[in-house]
Amino acid sequence: MEKNFELTPGYAKAQDVKDELAPFRKRFYQVEGHIYMDGNSLGLCSRDAESAVMNMLDVWKKNGIYLWNIEEGRYYQYSRTLAKLAAPLLGASPEEICIAGNTTINIHQAISTFYKPNQKRFKILVDELNFPTDIYAVHSQVLGKGLNPAEAVKVVPSRDGLLIDEEDIIAAMTDDVALALLPAVFYRSAQLLDIKRLSAEAHKRGIIIGWDLCHSIGSVPHDFSSADADFAVWCNYKYLSGGPGCTAGLYINRKHFGLMPGLWGWFGNEPKTQFRMSHVFEKAGNAEAWQTGTPCLLSMAPLEGTLRIFSEAGIGRIREKSLRLTSYLMFLIEKRLKKYGFRCGNPEDDERRGGHVALSHDDGYRICLALKSHKVIPDFREPDVIRLAPIALYNSYDEVYTVVDILEKIMIGKEYETYSRERDLVV
Ligand SMILES: *Cc1c(COP(=O)(O)O)cnc(C)c1O
Repeated sequence: MEKNFELTPGYAKAQDVKDELAPFRKRFYQVEGHIYMDGNSLGLCSRDAESAVMNMLDVWKKNGIYLWNIEEGRYYQYSRTLAKLAAPLLGASPEEICIAGNTTINIHQAISTFYKPNQKRFKILVDELNFPTDIYAVHSQVLGKGLNPAEAVKVVPSRDGLLIDEEDIIAAMTDDVALALLPAVFYRSAQLLDIKRLSAEAHKRGIIIGWDLCHSIGSVPHDFSSADADFAVWCNYKYLSGGPGCTAGLYINRKHFGLMPGLWGWFGNEPKTQFRMSHVFEKAGNAEAWQTGTPCLLSMAPLEGTLRIFSEAGIGRIREKSLRLTSYLMFLIEKRLKKYGFRCGNPEDDERRGGHVALSHDDGYRICLALKSHKVIPDFREPDVIRLAPIALYNSYDEVYTVVDILEKIMIGKEYETYSRERDLVV
């Protein structure tokens, strides 16, 4: 990728003029007067998401219970409608996708489906840097099988506290491992793992492998049809802007459609017989079998709106701009901020980096507070990482430039020294 970045403010403005995705910005509500760099935690609300929610309310208002029957069962099988829109982001077929639950529950659903420990193979492989909820879910699933997490959860350590070496993951795939759960992109460092390679290595060793796509979906293109992983889970409220607590996603490789889900519910029943109300569970023939209860239509509607934007923009163009924005940010950090003790903790290589920059500083927490006082919205992850996510669909090169200007000003004036190191409840 061409990256002849320049240090002038005019350069940033010229990039925005040339940017094919720039018109999408108008579709999103901005936090007024602020520069939003936190779309990797909670994506901004779009006009499209808003109108999809309003439509859903209208459908409910006008139809009451009939809403399940209208438009050929579109809302009754709303997961299917959304799966069609989400499929290109996963490179999977819509039948392999269900939109249900939350990430944590979907991890429980997948592990309870695939984890069948025996004397020889009983371990679940995770890594030291994954998100806590993934680890909690794994521990409770292991406990549910009467096993001790200290023995049955195998943790791949990080050599430097920031990144995980893929060789270490492969070396940990020993023949006592039954299942591996790994993030596609690490939430702190933005490191992107090679899903295809690691899935193939797991399968060579008879290990089931699942991926957490929370930090990659909507930012990094996926190709699950060729990666051939067993399952994946993701939330829809980060890069995808599906709204706070938006219903999540689950991918089940079609080769596993014959398996019984770990958690059964009536919405996992074959739709044709669901309303016979039989006590015999007749599972659906595709990923919809992994749904449990009534779909949360109001938490799914915004996703329909936002996925239409993704279809129009195309994940290829989104990834290209995202990589240029993060590269540009890293370039400015290197040239202008390194002297103040900043480091980029994310991989520099495009092939190995997700959608955010992990800016580390010993005083990261207080600098983050100073940034907020300048109306820049980043977030902070322990111990010292300021995450900055310039989002392809709604951030500009000019905003990246301005954030670096503000950071420089904060450092020159030592503004962060006026803040306490005491942590807030939600950071
Ligand atoms: C954001 C995130 C989650 C969130 O889980 P929820 O159940 O949706 O709250 C889980 N795992 C990872 C890796 C995440 O980044």
